[in-house]
Amino acid sequence: MSARLEALRAALRRRHPAAGALAVAGMDNVRYLSGFRGDAGLLWVAPDDAALLTDSRFWTQAREEAPDWRLVRVRERPTVEFLGDLCRASGVGALAFDPGEVTYAGYREWRRRLTGVRLVPAPGLVAALRLRKEPAEIAAIRRAAAVADRAFAQWRAQVRPGAVEAELALDLEHRMRRAGAEAMAFPPIVAGGPRGAMAHAVPGPAALRAGEMVVVDLGCRVDGYCSDMTRTLVVPGAEPDPEARRVYDVVRSALQAGIDALRPGRRGLDVDAEARRVIAAAGYGDAFGHGLGHGVGLAVHEGPRLSPLADPRQTIPEDAIVTVEPGVYLEGRFGVRLEQLVRVRAGGPEVLSTSPL
Ligand code: ZN
Ligand code: ZN
Repeated sequence: MSARLEALRAALRRRHPAAGALAVAGMDNVRYLSGFRGDAGLLWVAPDDAALLTDSRFWTQAREEAPDWRLVRVRERPTVEFLGDLCRASGVGALAFDPGEVTYAGYREWRRRLTGVRLVPAPGLVAALRLRKEPAEIAAIRRAAAVADRAFAQWRAQVRPGAVEAELALDLEHRMRRAGAEAMAFPPIVAGGPRGAMAHAVPGPAALRAGEMVVVDLGCRVDGYCSDMTRTLVVPGAEPDPEARRVYDVVRSALQAGIDALRPGRRGLDVDAEARRVIAAAGYGDAFGHGLGHGVGLAVHEGPRLSPLADPRQTIPEDAIVTVEPGVYLEGRFGVRLEQLVRVRAGGPEVLSTSPL
């Protein structure tokens, strides 16, 4: 973790030389740098000083999880005032912060309370470090993917006519927890027939019908790291809509095109375009509304983005872990999405999800 802190300091010096220190907000960023897993706190990072600021609920936990960090005990005053104390004590007149991690209300409060300190927007410094996964991070994501694969394999026989989506989703959660997940990465999606046409459907009281397509999106958390995978199944007992079969093949080809396009140094928007082209060529371009994929780590959605909206200056580094998840959604009829979790490597992409397609 000290290497991460040094890399952050170097990025701050390079990108924002006027800033005397950086306030790190966002608990995934705090955890990434310090190891602290609590759900409230900030980091203060100066060239030769660093501190973790948190309140009394977390003091014991902070000492255990971030033993190398100086603990600033927040009490009776807002956290930002302790940040102000640190700025004054070390003569910092310009403090960098990530505008993506501070709300507008928070920013206004910081401005009001940090008298004599100029706030310098420094977007994405920690997020940039998090793009490329270290071996221990890759191992944790691999474990989270394996837990989801195991749970899915045991669960899928329950996809049959009459099964209720909300109960299927709950059962999937239980199986992931029993298989070793510490939490869900997000609530699982089980969406049959027309509900599958909503990319982020919420499982409800609907029962599955024979021959329907069912979109199942699941992911869990192991050692803080997430997995994310989607499969589309057919409810047994009847033949699916012939168009659904066709769409499935199109989505599967797009998935392969997206995975094949993943190389270190490529841009997320180009990888998105390669998969999108396959879907558009089949005539379903308008039915694929979301981006092709996203990075996965401590957060289930993080950089790099594979999307037409991805930053054109950002390239995908070696050892990024991303999802590739093309989908086609026909309103009122069905949806098909396939999502693989993939490690980007110079020698070729490595798919971490092992559930059969
Ligand atoms: Zn997903
Ligand atoms: Zn995803």
